[in-house]
Amino acid sequence: MSNVVELLEKLSKPKSVNMSNTFKAPKSSLDKQELYSALCVAGKKSPIGLAIVMATEFGEIQYVDQLQNYLIEKLGSEELMTVVYSELCFIPLGRNQLRIKSLLKQYGPRAKRSRRLIDSWNRAIKSLTRSGRHQDLVNRHLSDIESERKSLDDWAAKYSKLSCNCPRCGATGSVNGERCKSCHGDGYFKNKVINWKEHLGQFDIKLTPELTLKIESILDDLAIKKQTTINAMTKRARLERTD
Ligand SMILES: [Zn+2]
Repeated sequence: MSNVVELLEKLSKPKSVNMSNTFKAPKSSLDKQELYSALCVAGKKSPIGLAIVMATEFGEIQYVDQLQNYLIEKLGSEELMTVVYSELCFIPLGRNQLRIKSLLKQYGPRAKRSRRLIDSWNRAIKSLTRSGRHQDLVNRHLSDIESERKSLDDWAAKYSKLSCNCPRCGATGSVNGERCKSCHGDGYFKNKVINWKEHLGQFDIKLTPELTLKIESILDDLAIKKQTTINAMTKRARLERTD
């Protein structure tokens, strides 16, 4: 629990606060004991509400498991759980994920380095081929290019499963002062129902209108539970302060 308390403590402090020792913590921030009490109360009132807050805001693994198990029980399948969990944690699905993967390969932090390496091997191959010698070296560079492409692809596949944020503009919506041409200024690629359908289609699950409604109603219910828990935690923390 102490890890959780520390995370919440960070959250409770305004970001602009100067953390040097010459400044005391502002009155609006909470101490560990106050946060711990707030968490205990929130957890007792609604264990699943607490799990949603901790899993979606902090990625706390024990709460992620708890939330996922709850969703599997509610929805009856791991694939449907993935749809709901992805919405809660802003994770792309279906073609949305492929789009982000492709943008990561073009604009992600590894893309530039990869391009530079491949360009240099291509130049070397050209020059070696012209000389008509060192076929072994040409072959080695060709294999280097292939493995670099594969490695970039693996990297992009891994990171495309983490966030709906736009890799081209870094979620800001603009590039060099102009609206990002990939996300059209949104900064992200939010999943649509078609992306749920694409994801479920991979597992031969048909997204019927009834199933769509069920997913939407669970999402609404979880949003209410999350907000109620945050309100309860805030209220309890305020009470702790006035005790
Ligand atoms: Zn963008």
